Amino acid sequence: MSEPLKLALVGIGKIARDQHLPAIAAEAGFALAAAVSRNGRVEGVPNFTDIAALIESRLPIDAVSICTPPVGRHRIAAQALSAGWHVMLEKPPGATLAEVHALEAQAQATGRSLFATWHSRHGAGVAGAAAWLLEKQIRRVDIAWREDIRVWHPGQEWILAAGGLGVFDPGINMLSILTAILPGPLRLAGARLAFPAGRGAPITAMLEMIHDEVAHVTADLDFRATGTPRWDIVIETDRGTLTLTEGGARLWIDGVEQPGAAIGEYPALYQRFAELIPAAQSDCDLRPLTLVADAFLLGERTETDTFVF
Ligand code: NAP
Repeated sequence: MSEPLKLALVGIGKIARDQHLPAIAAEAGFALAAAVSRNGRVEGVPNFTDIAALIESRLPIDAVSICTPPVGRHRIAAQALSAGWHVMLEKPPGATLAEVHALEAQAQATGRSLFATWHSRHGAGVAGAAAWLLEKQIRRVDIAWREDIRVWHPGQEWILAAGGLGVFDPGINMLSILTAILPGPLRLAGARLAFPAGRGAPITAMLEMIHDEVAHVTADLDFRATGTPRWDIVIETDRGTLTLTEGGARLWIDGVEQPGAAIGEYPALYQRFAELIPAAQSDCDLRPLTLVADAFLLGERTETDTFVF
């Protein structure tokens, strides 16, 4: 068996600790070789406060996985590609579409892999949902994506700043699932966005989308929903109703639960990254971010009360 690839993890915050570190430890294709974060540290590996310091150290590195907030991620990814490393990006892949297109071009020019991950696409019920929807006619889709920002993103001020995406930070997970499972194209037709006073990103969003120019798709995104979160997608077809609950973890067809995939979301992401690297392939699907960008372009905006974490 070949040597594991030497991986640096960048942005040691909630998702790096909750998901990336355990997934890397379990994936034979990678060995954690360094951590990069201004304040966060990982025991047992060299730590650096900036990607430039890691590059200057000349520590042998093959790939980086970037878990910082979207604003600023382009600079880190571009420096990593320039250093000759393969790059994996947390979702959303960037703060703008153009910066991700630039990274794709850079990866291609340098013969390195760029992997824009969508972890929710690896939820246990998602592959089964996509398979069941093939050959079905979609009649309508209703989505509720409602969670308590204070519980799920404690103190993450960046999320409500410009470029942080606000309620689209979780909402883009839903869009990543929809674009993966619906058989036809999806486009945004309208949106209503509510911004807390003084904040640069919305705290609620109502979306109207059209699937295949036929079926209406509505989505209710709310970051102020207390109690049990709801991450549910209901799809009515000509041959039954499909329901995905718990953010893609559970799949139901006409009320009967279906068996799901056994591998976890983050182990699946690192397996995919390990597959892409030997062929220097990239995987960079920007449809979820395009729908978010269109909601910002087209959405009617209102201002709500100030929000304090
Ligand atoms: P987080 O807890 O705030 O961690 C991000 C880390 O990035 C921070 O701890 C910080 O570490 C570093 N960082 C670098 N520049 C920063 C800046 N300008 N502002 C704030 N932090 C900065 O965020 P997270 O929840 O891990 O989310 C990071 C990314 O993962 C986001 O794109 C998010 O959408 C995605 N994600 C999150 C979750 C989740 O449940 N939380 C799930 C899936 C994906 P230093 O201070 O040490 O530099």
